[in-house]
Amino acid sequence: MITKSETLFEQAKKSIPGGVNSPVRSFQSVGGKPIFMESAKGAYLNDVDGKSYIDYINSWGPMILGHNHPEVLEAIQVQAQKALGFGAPTELEVKMAELIRSIVPNVDLLRLVSSGTEACMTAIRVARGFTNRNKFIKLEGCYHGHADPFLVKAGSGLATLGIQSQPGITSGASKDTLVAPFNDLDSIQKIFQDNKDEIAAIILEPVAGNMGCIPPNAGYLEGLRKICTENKSLLIFDEVMTGFRLSLGGAQELFGIEADLITMGKIIGGGLPVAAFGGKREIMETVAPIGKVYQAGTLSGNPVAVSAGFKTLSILKENPEIYRTIERTTRTLHEGAKSILTKKGIPHKINSIGSMISIFFGTEKISNFQDVANSDINMFNRFFHFLLEQGIYLPPSAYESWFISNAITDTEIDKTLVAMEKF
Ligand code: PLP
Repeated sequence: MITKSETLFEQAKKSIPGGVNSPVRSFQSVGGKPIFMESAKGAYLNDVDGKSYIDYINSWGPMILGHNHPEVLEAIQVQAQKALGFGAPTELEVKMAELIRSIVPNVDLLRLVSSGTEACMTAIRVARGFTNRNKFIKLEGCYHGHADPFLVKAGSGLATLGIQSQPGITSGASKDTLVAPFNDLDSIQKIFQDNKDEIAAIILEPVAGNMGCIPPNAGYLEGLRKICTENKSLLIFDEVMTGFRLSLGGAQELFGIEADLITMGKIIGGGLPVAAFGGKREIMETVAPIGKVYQAGTLSGNPVAVSAGFKTLSILKENPEIYRTIERTTRTLHEGAKSILTKKGIPHKINSIGSMISIFFGTEKISNFQDVANSDINMFNRFFHFLLEQGIYLPPSAYESWFISNAITDTEIDKTLVAMEKF
């Protein structure tokens, strides 16, 4: 029987490239066809064919409180009644900026934008403008959005789809992007030696999530901080994924490392399009209109989107126990999955930290992109489809982190582990 999802996918392909508005949604690497969703509540998604799923994607991170949190919905409705947008400043933006500054370390000034891509590409522009240097270092397998200079050895959809070369991007746009493997301080040192006084910044996901979940090795972030300080380069933490997730103050707070610029996204919009970049005053004062580094956005600080983010961050700030709960839930899933796969004799490695987790197959060590590429991707794809059949919705790629929301309780973890037992 042909499902409504299958019919919609065929229809979608006639109007939208590959039938999807963001590549990883297509299921291209895991095989099969994407499922079209209709509604969501708490820990569950409901598809157009009436089947429900426990959601481990959570809109790729934003839904830390679970879907359709009543207070977030109410905040959106109250704001929508007042106005959908002005293109003029609002009090809500001031309150949001103050709230973020009270939560995220090392943010004296910040600018709201609408996507993580915008936040990261502007952070690089600011770093270049501030240091008067052109080159920057990114790490293999990290993803910072789809702006031209980042699409070099990037994770997420590029890794998932095996896209290596980049038609559409001039060599000029990416020639100043220098790439090092994740968790390897020696290669960072070497790049600095070879490019003395030329490197504006290192940008990284402090815990990688776009090649599956890969935490930093002990001392790695400290090493990067030291190298940046010694070379007068900026350390940019891309906290689009880790911000407000690994802890309220993100990876900076969790690891006790001070970044110079921080990019934020996902949770900061509570499910609607909000992102931000911010940092120390002297650096951020290079941004227009006070400085000459230009950045702008028609919908930046949109009041409906900001109302969702403001409510989400407020709930997180007022309820710090949420972080203990989601960490415990993640730990239970980690231990349960480990014991099941070990009992079954399936070689695997589970990485988890905070409420981010990934299971890799056919390997015992995952600390950089190459390790993931060498893992058993086919086994992941089988695992993905097996669980999907059982109503468990994982990211459709071995190169993505799963996200635990506060709506996922022991009941959902039990159901997930029961499904894994049958694999
Ligand atoms: N940075 C990181 C760490 C991300 O995970 C993503 C998206 O997944 C981005 C940047 C880009 O964000 P957006 O998709 O909102 O442009």
